[in-house]
Amino acid sequence: MSGTRNALSRPMSRMGAADRTSAVASSFVVADAGHCIGCKACELACFAVHSQTNGIGASVGTVSVPVVPKVYVVRAGDTYVPVQCRHCENAPCAHACPVQAIRQENGVVMIDEELCISCTSCVLACPFGAIEVSTVYREGRVMTQPGLTDRAAHKALPRTAAGKCDLCADTNGGQPACVEACPNDVLRLAIVESDPLPERRREVFFPRL
Ligand code: SF4
Ligand code: SF4
Repeated sequence: MSGTRNALSRPMSRMGAADRTSAVASSFVVADAGHCIGCKACELACFAVHSQTNGIGASVGTVSVPVVPKVYVVRAGDTYVPVQCRHCENAPCAHACPVQAIRQENGVVMIDEELCISCTSCVLACPFGAIEVSTVYREGRVMTQPGLTDRAAHKALPRTAAGKCDLCADTNGGQPACVEACPNDVLRLAIVESDPLPERRREVFFPRL
């Protein structure tokens, strides 16, 4: 957090897109992991909303590429924990990126896929394991990396890029898809503002206590 300590304010469920774009220190999805049932509806909703421009069908039987969401449900024994980017104010991934492909806009840490060279420095720097490098698809097809070929096989190699939660900044216009999809109200968007109040912090992180 920054020098002036921050507080977590209203959950996004009570906010509109205009509120989201106002200047905030940071925002991120928090999970009430004790209530996660591991259904992975959040993963599928994430994949669907981020696949609207790459020609992939989002209904059963029409998805022809690997499902790569930007939120991952991790199982530890009988407990399920959704994991995704925390949009750190002093984001280690941004410090690690050698080509300035990572930026922060209105409290959201974004990766510019076009600038990314897939060096995985951000993957190593992220303390939450929230970044993954995966193949880039457009119009349902694998993109190839200009100038990169497998000489033995005489074929171009796929373009890859780093990806992670962007809070549906360019795709949903309001509530992140995972938050909307969760049937058990496990996920919520927290907005970081000024003047911390412990009771507000507890209310946002642990609303059911
Ligand atoms: S993988 Fe891409 S976004 Fe991550 S540090 Fe390397 S160039 Fe930057
Ligand atoms: S949709 Fe909700 S309950 Fe289902 S796996 Fe995701 S966080 Fe857990």
